Amino acid sequence: MKREWIALIAGLAVIVPMHAQHKPIAREIVDRIQKNVGVPWTTPTVDTFKAGNPDEPITGIAVTMMATLDVLERAAAAGSNFVITHEPTFYNHLDSTSQLEKQNDAVLAAKQKFIRDHHLVIWRFHDHWHMHKPDGILLGMTHALGWEKFQNPENQHLFTVPETTLNDLAENVKHKLDVRALRAVGDPHLKLTKVGFLPGAAGSARQIQMLEGDDVEVLLIGETPEWETVEYVADAATEHKRKGLIIIGHVKSEQAGMEECTRWLKTFIHDVPVQFIATPEPFWLPQ
Ligand SMILES: [Zn+2]
Repeated sequence: MKREWIALIAGLAVIVPMHAQHKPIAREIVDRIQKNVGVPWTTPTVDTFKAGNPDEPITGIAVTMMATLDVLERAAAAGSNFVITHEPTFYNHLDSTSQLEKQNDAVLAAKQKFIRDHHLVIWRFHDHWHMHKPDGILLGMTHALGWEKFQNPENQHLFTVPETTLNDLAENVKHKLDVRALRAVGDPHLKLTKVGFLPGAAGSARQIQMLEGDDVEVLLIGETPEWETVEYVADAATEHKRKGLIIIGHVKSEQAGMEECTRWLKTFIHDVPVQFIATPEPFWLPQ
């Protein structure tokens, strides 16, 4: 790549330095992530480009939990044209847009237009950030909760906390993670010390399997269909089994893990600014 242009102006040869340094393209940033993540890059993976041109020179990197249009607007306004998102951009796990395009979906079209107009490049960093050792999302979330000292060294999804009740644990998590619409299932007075944590949408099969274990009295999750894990815990409570569920919401259950990702990226990306852009919690409660 040319670092300077030689321009002929009024018969004079002058050397015009175009940039103090070469701007990396999006693909080069992804190469660096693949070299630094510490685990082999495995395919198939959802960690791929979702929109924009991977050869676009990068002015800045915005790291976020979910590439909502609100996040994209804030990234563009802050001069970041490369968005690294943990979750999908186009409303399904594989970011397939064909069905909505067939329906001429206006919401999708407006988002795609914004991405085009601002030359944004969007890349998902999900599978390999979880595969990172330790799991980058759990690392950031454990730090946000201040639960490092309670974490089981053999299984980082398990915690032994000082005795509390389901109500007080839910209140504590809501406060620490700054959640508006946290919900809990089970007996609020349930006394507990054994907590499991599955951020995001791990699926009811994994969630119920964790709840079956003697080492989990209360499970913290991002989200679940209400007719699966929620009904299971409701039944467990009716059967007087010592089980409870705390539903944080997907964004807030993993968000600090992408703040951790931002810190990590800054350890090996020095030629473009890297910033964290928080995804707002989508839920609110009537006042
Ligand atoms: Zn995740």
